[in-house]
Amino acid sequence: MRSSVLPYGRQCIEEDDVSAVAAALRSDWITTGPRVGEFEARVAERVGARHAVAVNSGTAALHAALDAAPIRLGDEVIVPALTFAASANAVLYVGGTPVFADVRPDTFNLDPADVRRRLTPRTRAIVTVDYAGHPSDLDALGAVAREHGIVLIEDAAHALGAEYRGRPVGAIADLTTFSFHPVKAITTGEGGMVTTGDAERARRMRRFRNHGIETEAADRFRAGAWHYDMVELGFNYRLTDLQCALGLSQLDKLERFVARRAAIADRYRRALHGVPGLTLQAVAADVRHAWHLFVVVLTLEAFSGGRAEIAAALRAEGVGVSVHYAPVYRHPFYRGRGDAEGSCPVAERLAAALLTVPLFPAMTDADADSVVEALVKVVEHYRERP
Ligand SMILES: *Cc1c(COP(=O)(O)O)cnc(C)c1O
Repeated sequence: MRSSVLPYGRQCIEEDDVSAVAAALRSDWITTGPRVGEFEARVAERVGARHAVAVNSGTAALHAALDAAPIRLGDEVIVPALTFAASANAVLYVGGTPVFADVRPDTFNLDPADVRRRLTPRTRAIVTVDYAGHPSDLDALGAVAREHGIVLIEDAAHALGAEYRGRPVGAIADLTTFSFHPVKAITTGEGGMVTTGDAERARRMRRFRNHGIETEAADRFRAGAWHYDMVELGFNYRLTDLQCALGLSQLDKLERFVARRAAIADRYRRALHGVPGLTLQAVAADVRHAWHLFVVVLTLEAFSGGRAEIAAALRAEGVGVSVHYAPVYRHPFYRGRGDAEGSCPVAERLAAALLTVPLFPAMTDADADSVVEALVKVVEHYRERP
């Protein structure tokens, strides 16, 4: 048994990351300065997008993307039921109505066929989520969006470094959002980014993150000017130079991090394949999965204990597990906002039966093997009992 509990995810900060932040602290700019543009340019280059706009969280990235879409009062936006609440909350921030659609039983990603069933004359956008790092069905969703003249937004909080049919996630949807929260592929503490091929939307998002003001403080400083115009109601969603220093340093490691995640996922998949009572996320042949999360689905009918019991047993073995996610419409806040209850049966079944097990780049092979050992042991225990 493990002597300490492995978390399901955690950041990987190395000495050069610390030095990069220290250097930024000693420089002239600690908030919006040269590193913001540099980080944006590097992320844009990495994902093959024309524009990247840095903001201070993945949630702010969704908010900015929905504003730039533009989504306004009364517009409907289709969102998968199986996601973090932020994917839907951001729709409400701009006055839109989230309409929940179901996910596919194999990849756990938004089901394009169910999206078609939820379309109404008021539908203005789709927010698709690359669940656990597996790219969404971007061709099928893009076709729906084109046919109906609506916007495709990809919540790629899990999927920096992923590829769909040979193309990096970030250059495919109309707008793609990323998160740099500590459990995500790379971190800036808190942070986010939107990538887009649309110059006008990028310009709007730069203004949106800075109170709706047209110019940035650094530009005014250089020009020796004090006048500025606030032209719309925006927010302070700026990412700091300190955070971008960390982001730049982390971005250099993205390939190594994703490769390490993939190696651990591969180890898990080989060891867990065929274990009775467990099923795993299917991986499409034409994607590169970013492996933000590793999820196992319990065949609950086969067990004498429920998920909570199994999760507690795993934790007692030193394996920190989590659940990604409860269907968004089951949260108390969403109950009574439309009647989505029961409307996404696949998401509900998965949400009741899945467990996220530890996966992060700093894990050792021995850590991964201890997770497998604990899973097999606990699953066997609950399967065998009458
Ligand atoms: C993490 C996450 C977000 C929000 O990102 P923050 O940086 O925490 O605001 C949004 N959507 C999904 C699917 C996420 O996992």
